[in-house]
Parts: sequence; C-alpha cells; structure tokens
Amino acid sequence: MLHKRSDIDRLTDTVRRLTSEISRNQFPAETADRRMVAEIIKREIDLDGNAHQNLATFCSTWESEEVMELMAASINKNLIDKDEYPTAAEIERRCVHMLADLWNAPDTHDAVGTSAIGSSEACMLAGMAMHRRWRNRRREQGLPTDTPNLVCGPVQVVWEKFARYWDIELREVGMAPGRYGIDAATMLEQVDEHTIGVVPTLGVTYTGIYEPVAELAAALDDLQERTGLDVDLHIDGASGGFTAPFCAPDLVWDFRLPRVKSISASGHKFGLAPLGVGWVLFRDAAELPEELVFHVTYLGGDMPTFQINFSRPAGQIIAQYAGFLRLGREGYAAAHGNSYRTAQHLAEQLPKVGPFELIYDGDPATGIPAVTWKLADDAGVTWTLYELADRLRTRGWQVPAYPLTGELSTQVVQRALIRLEITSDEINTLLSDMAEAVDFLERHPVSVQMTQDEGTSFSH
Ligand SMILES: *Cc1c(COP(=O)(O)O)cnc(C)c1O
Repeated sequence: MLHKRSDIDRLTDTVRRLTSEISRNQFPAETADRRMVAEIIKREIDLDGNAHQNLATFCSTWESEEVMELMAASINKNLIDKDEYPTAAEIERRCVHMLADLWNAPDTHDAVGTSAIGSSEACMLAGMAMHRRWRNRRREQGLPTDTPNLVCGPVQVVWEKFARYWDIELREVGMAPGRYGIDAATMLEQVDEHTIGVVPTLGVTYTGIYEPVAELAAALDDLQERTGLDVDLHIDGASGGFTAPFCAPDLVWDFRLPRVKSISASGHKFGLAPLGVGWVLFRDAAELPEELVFHVTYLGGDMPTFQINFSRPAGQIIAQYAGFLRLGREGYAAAHGNSYRTAQHLAEQLPKVGPFELIYDGDPATGIPAVTWKLADDAGVTWTLYELADRLRTRGWQVPAYPLTGELSTQVVQRALIRLEITSDEINTLLSDMAEAVDFLERHPVSVQMTQDEGTSFSH
C-alpha cells in the first residue's frame, strides 16, 4: 500500500530514474523494483504495432496457451546439452525424421538434418555443404576451386549474406516483364562449371510465388546429359516448405526430384512454431560432407552436430514438435487452407476498392498465403502505393510497399501476408480502410515538391 507522501516520492523518483535518458544508455548503478521494471518495459514494448494488423511479417505472431506452457516449461533447457537434456535432443531427432517424411526423402529411417535458429542459419549450413561438395568434386578432378558462384532468382537477403561471408559470387537473376522469378532459360545463361548450386525459392519474398523447381531440375538434367555438368539444387522453402506439402501435395518440388540435395525452411513461419526455429535436411548422408560435422563427446557417447550456435533454447523445437503432433497433415492443411481462402477473398475484392492489378492472388498451387498487387498501368492517379501504405499505417495496418528487382526495379508493389490468425473479417476491415484511404488520396492530391537540396517532400 502506498499512502505516505515519502512512498509516493520514492515511487516517482524510481519511475523518473528508470525512464530517464541516462538509464537508457548507461549501465544502471542501482537496483530497482522488479515489478516496476517489468511494467515499464511492458508499456514500452506495447508501443509496437499490433500483430493482427501486421500483414508484413511471415513469422508467427500467435501461439496457443499450450505452446506458451511448453515454452515456459522448457525455458531453461539447452538444446546443445544432449546429455543433460536427452529428451530435447530426441524431440529434435523426431522432428527431423517427420520432415524427411513430409519432404519425401528417399530414406526416412536415416534422415539427415538439423534444427537451426531460423531459415537464415539453415540456408547458411546448406550453402556451406553445397560449396564443400562442389569443391571436393573439383579437387578430385584436379580442377581450380577459386571462383565459385551461386545461381538464384530474387532471393531473401540471407543468400547475399552467404555469398559475401563465404566469398562466393552471387548470380542473382533479376525480374523482367511477366517473369517474377528464375526460369530454366535465365538459369542456364548463368550456370557454368564454377556453379556450386542453384537455389530456387518456394515462396519468393517479394511476391509470395513459388519458383518452378521441377522445370529447373529438368533443365539441369538435360544440361548434364548434353555437357556432363552436374549442378545441385538447394530449395529455400522458408515459407513454402510448410505450405506446399499440405495445400499443393501434387506439386513436385522436394526430394522426389533426385537433383534436390537439401531443403531449408522456417519452423517459425508457416511451420507455426514460436520465433527461433528453422530446419535444414539433406537428401542423404552423402550430401553432407563429413568435414562439416563435429563429433562432440558427451560422457563417452558420440554426438554429431552441424550447427553454428552452441547453446540454444530447446523450447521452440519442443513447441514445433507439439504443433506437428497436434495438427498433423490434416490440421496444417485446414489451417493454411483457411489462410489461402482469406488471401483469395482479399485478391477478389482488391480491384473493387482501387485501381489495383494483381501480381499474385493467393493460389495454393503457385505460392504461399499472400497477395501482391501493383497500381494498374492505366490507373492515372496522383498517388503511389507508398502513400497508400502510409495512410493505412494511420489505421494501424502494416502493408508494405517496395520496388521489385532487375528490369522491374522501378515497379512498386504492395504485399499482404495472410497468417493463421488473420480472419476474413479483419480483411474486410482492411478493405474498407483501403477504400477510404484511396478516397482520401483522390480528394487530397499529393503534391510533390522537389528542390535540389531537399530531395523529395510530400504535402497534402
Ligand atoms: C524468411 C526467409 C528467410 C530467412 O528466414 P529466417 O527464418 O527469418 O531466418 C530466407 N529465405 C526466405 C525465402 C524467407 O522467406
């Protein structure tokens, strides 16, 4: 109970100290009340946008109470201490085997793969393995290995990181009118004997569209027949690895294609696990060069590990496992099926609220649950999608606008990701907010004033 004047003084003093400029940048000298600290931090993080209106992120923004409980129960479990926490290690092993089954690996009893902190670490691991396989093959033939390259379409930034960190030339095929990803013809222009592999994306970041894996595999089979050149495929299935198997089971993109040597995916995107889990699987043991595997001894036992981190929380993997058991193929198909229907509803309604033209309409056979659009070429409006995104932000919506790549780098698009908890009711609210925003922008034309010094400034 706070009733004395001095108590209140002390309270305001503490709040002032905790929220002062100094306390943000200098290491605190004194202790503080734990509840007050938590309250102040909670208020601060509450200022971030609300997850329901965030149509920008691919990542999980909602978890069930059971998952929260499992996360809390495993908060002190360290995945790397396989001796201390053998159950966490066993659960990780089961998940790897389930994914080998889901992605049609040839031998699911001997699945080869690992968890990671996200797709980025998973891609990095797969990229390293791809580089080593290529280098080992070249060395055996007495050929030079100093100019490796990697061929891909418009990729997520992790592949630019991979290329820079490991000194590999990135041959990234840009977009062109009517072509939003890599295809067989553009791939073949880039591939040569120094190519460590080709990376198609299942769910391109810019558009949500799947790149044509089977077509690329067939073109590489043909290339090998004609020239002897044998080029591996790694599939970046960050999002699509957890949508295609459930909602487009006939799409052949995984280990059913012999040329697919590894697959990575984010458990914390459409895998529906909490933030902090990704997966990488290899076709079989032959595709993971032995020199990348570390054998750690735990009380006499041999534990092979292939990860960049050492200590890591086990909770996300345990929660991922719970999700696999709870949902199964049926549950994932139903959950994502809902998201696709909501995305298609948005795609159908969009052209009615403004001069929009769809680039991707949320079709489960060709991409992830998302919608991407541009201003119609004949829109004849004075505003851009950047201004629209800005107007929507005033209603709490995060629907990013950004340019495409290559020949389309002046084409601005807008994209909405439809995740598990986004309902069609919410999408209807978004649509009416969009109609209002379009009306506002029409009534208050954006005048662009440009001076040489100031660049561009907007006023309404
Ligand atoms: C999100 C994403 C990544 C990076 O994954 P994280 O899990 O965020 O590390 C890589 N590739 C693609 C295609 C993605 O969508």
